[in-house]
Amino acid sequence: MKFIEEIFTCPDCGCHILEEIMTDVVQTTRITGIEDGIFEYGYTCVDGGVCERIQCMECGFVLKDDNDNTIQYANELANCPHINLEKT
Ligand SMILES: [Zn+2]
Repeated sequence: MKFIEEIFTCPDCGCHILEEIMTDVVQTTRITGIEDGIFEYGYTCVDGGVCERIQCMECGFVLKDDNDNTIQYANELANCPHINLEKT
């Protein structure tokens, strides 16, 4: 396994952390109680969804490939100039 922190460097801020931005997600949260008219919540479960983009967690720089297409899947990272898959 390659750690993202070792193969990604954000060109804008130098951060090494990526995050996936999902849309159309179904979130389910257990309601454990109520106090003063406000629910208390337990665990949350997230299901489904589609990756809209992958971005730098610090500044929001969006990963794109050599043709300026937004990267959404891991198998597209090889075409991103900011990802070094050769690094071990
Ligand atoms: Zn950044």
